[in-house]
Parts: sequence; structure tokens; C-alpha cells
Amino acid sequence: MTAQARSAVQLGNVANAVSRSLTILGSTGSIGDSTLSVVAHARANHGPHAFPIEVLTAQSNVDKLAAQAREFRPRLAVIGDPALYDRLKDALAGTGIEVAAGRDAIRDAAARPSDVVMVAIIGAASLVPTLAAVKRGATIALANKECVVAAGDVFREALAASRAIVIPVDSEHNAAFQLLDFNQAHAFERVTLTASGGPFREWTRERMEAVTPEQAVAHPNWSMGAKISVDSATLMNKGLEVIEAHYLFGLPPEQLGVIVHPQSIVHCLVAYADGSTLAHLSAPDMRTPIAYALSWPHRVTSPSLRLDLARIGQLTFQEADFERFPCLGLAQDCLRIGGLAPTILNAANEIAVQAFLSRRIGFLDIARVIADTLAANDGSNGGGGLDEVLAVDQRARNVAGDFCRAMAA
Ligand code: NAD
Ligand code: MG
Repeated sequence: MTAQARSAVQLGNVANAVSRSLTILGSTGSIGDSTLSVVAHARANHGPHAFPIEVLTAQSNVDKLAAQAREFRPRLAVIGDPALYDRLKDALAGTGIEVAAGRDAIRDAAARPSDVVMVAIIGAASLVPTLAAVKRGATIALANKECVVAAGDVFREALAASRAIVIPVDSEHNAAFQLLDFNQAHAFERVTLTASGGPFREWTRERMEAVTPEQAVAHPNWSMGAKISVDSATLMNKGLEVIEAHYLFGLPPEQLGVIVHPQSIVHCLVAYADGSTLAHLSAPDMRTPIAYALSWPHRVTSPSLRLDLARIGQLTFQEADFERFPCLGLAQDCLRIGGLAPTILNAANEIAVQAFLSRRIGFLDIARVIADTLAANDGSNGGGGLDEVLAVDQRARNVAGDFCRAMAA
């Protein structure tokens, strides 16, 4: 896909890049905010018509969506929760901005023409709208990883059947996209994703037993939404990312590695057969990969933090600890098993993280719920397309919900 992406796009120039129209799915979240910050910066530099916005969507934060729509002037604003339609309509009265609501309206919005679709929805709820954008041949700036983990084969088949291209936004994959020379694919030896190690990098299992949601979402380097912050604390985020890298770049599990790098400055390392290792460095600021994804193959000026290595002083690396962070091993096992194991892993994780955030289960119970849900798998193997993925995803959510209730009792 990446090689195809590199040859499929007309190169143009930076002015062409900032004239691309955008659909932002999940504009009210952390990645949505950062994307609009890149857009505001481009408009300050290139004029008010830079990155015209076709659609903004959100699930329930109607006030924030309305405020964003008033500032950035999309043609259409969509709220996922249908009960909030009237509030959005009232808030945007007189602006000329079209308003819609509901899950199907988000899917339809993704299918509307625009040059780039930023997928910044959290969780596998992104899957159906992302596939709608793939089907119509959009350029997909993909922040969301859960859709790739939940439906890797379906996603790849849909991409192969369309003109769509994916520019990864997840910082490690955005870095890999910049480092992997697909003309030399025979010489790839190893792709290593870095992990900060999260807030509990040095904690014992005993200490982790009492972790609160507030402690888990306080990430040392990155400012992110609650779910991915918990995933970073369990290291499931890195597990999901290894699976994401497998599907995005077509690399086998044995060529994909993880290393803990507490400073989050190096995002990915690519080792080639001649002994060279290429690394991508940037300050931990998602506006850098977002700007790259929106403007690729050009580079627009972004408001991101700049790198100051002399101030940072030291970059350190250590092995990941699979004993204290079992989610990483669970994800690697699912990648090796293949089929719909990653679908179940992702669904169980989404349910367990939600139960932890609402204080129904403990921090270490997250991995227990996922392991139990995987063990209860009824043997669906994939090959049944999107419908099978959605059915297996839903079943795994139900099973994981039962395990959460049993643990909470
Ligand atoms: P977030 O929780 O801050 O925002 C999520 C957005 O999705 C919101 O706009 C929300 O309204 C919308 N949303 C929530 N549930 C929805 C549903 N059921 N249907 C439609 N829309 C829904 O999340 P985030 O931290 O911005 O992360 C978004 C995605 O990007 C995730 O998949 C995450 O793994 C990935 N990502 C985030 C970061 C980061 O720095 N935040 C970095 C790398 C990758
Ligand atoms: Mg990442």
C-alpha cells in the first residue's frame, strides 16, 4: 500500500497541498483538536482558504462541535448521538452549515467527496466510516488504530480494491512511513516501534494493583484522550501498534519489534540489510505527524514543538517487560494467531478500559479480562468479511462485559 501510495499521488506543490479539502471524523477529541490547530496555522500562513473543511463529526460533545463549526466553517457538521440533533441545529442556526445526526450520518459524511479524511474517532466505531472513505478512493490520514486491528484483512482488501491511500498518523507508523523505502523492501530487516513505557514504567505489579484512572491517564510525555492514555499505561497501545504496523506495511510479525524509550523522541527505527538503522525523531507532539499526513508528499509549516536535543541531553532505551505488562504479549500472540484473534483482543480491551475508567474493575484486571475473553473464543477464523468481523467484535464485547461484571461483583 505504501509503495502504491508513493506512486499514485500527483506531486503538485505546497500550495496544492494546503488547498486539499478535509473531512475530520472525531474532531472534538485530542487528535481532532491537534488537526484543527494545524489547519488554523496553515490558514494564518497561507490565507483563510487553506485546508477548506467539508465535514466535522463528533459523538456527543455538541457544544464543542458547534464552536469548532462556527470557527472552521465546514459544509456539514454531524453529531453521532441522534438525541443531540436539535441542539446542534439550534447552535448552528443562521450559519448555512448543514447538520445531521446518527451513526449512519457519520458513515455517509465519510463517503462525501473530500480530498483527505482524518480518522480521529476512538475505537472500532471508526471501522464502517473509514471503509466508506476507502471505498470512494479518498486519501486517509489514519490516526485511529483500532479499525486496522479489528479488521486488518477486510481493511487491506478494501484498500486493494480502491484508489484510496493511507498516510498513517500514529506517530510510530508515520515515522515508519517516512523511513521505509519500499524500493528496497527486500532489504528490510527489522522495524522497531518505540514505547514510552507509560506512567508505570518502573512500578511493581503489587503497586499497579491499586492504580486509579487519574494516575493511568496522566501520561508523562503525550497529551491524549483517556482510552489511548490507559492503553499506553498497560502497553496495550504498543501491542495494538505492532498489529497495526503488520497490516499497514505488510511486514511479518518476526520483523516487528518494540523497545522502551522513555523520552518519546525517537518514534521508529528501521534496520536495513547493510547494517544501517534509520531513525525518525521529533518532539512528542501529534501536530507533526498530522501536518505530514495532510500535506504529504510536501511539508507544510506546523505549529509543533521543535526538537532541542541539547536540552533533552540523553536518549535512553530498554527492553520491554512482558511480565509486568502482559497486554503486550497478548497482542503479540494474537498477531501470530491471526484470523480474528486481533478483533477479539481489541474489542475486549475497549470494554475493559471503559470498565476501568468507570472504576468497575482494577488496572490489572484489564489484562485479565482480555485473556479470559480470548480464551472463551468460539473459534471464528475470519474470511467472512466485514459482517463476520462486526459479529465477532460484538460477541467479544458481550463476553468481556460479563467478565467485567463478574470481577466487579
Ligand atoms: P479522544 O477520545 O480524545 O477523541 C475521540 C473522538 O471520537 C471524539 O471526537 C469523539 O466525539 C469521537 N467519538 C467517540 N466515540 C465515537 C463513536 N462511537 N462514533 C463516532 N465518533 C466517536 O481520542 P484521541 O486520543 O483523539 O484518539 C483518537 C484515535 O487516534 C484513537 O484511535 C487513538 O488510538 C489514535 N491516536 C491518538 C493519539 C493521541 O495523541 N491522542 C496518538 C496516536 C493515535
Ligand atoms: Mg503511537
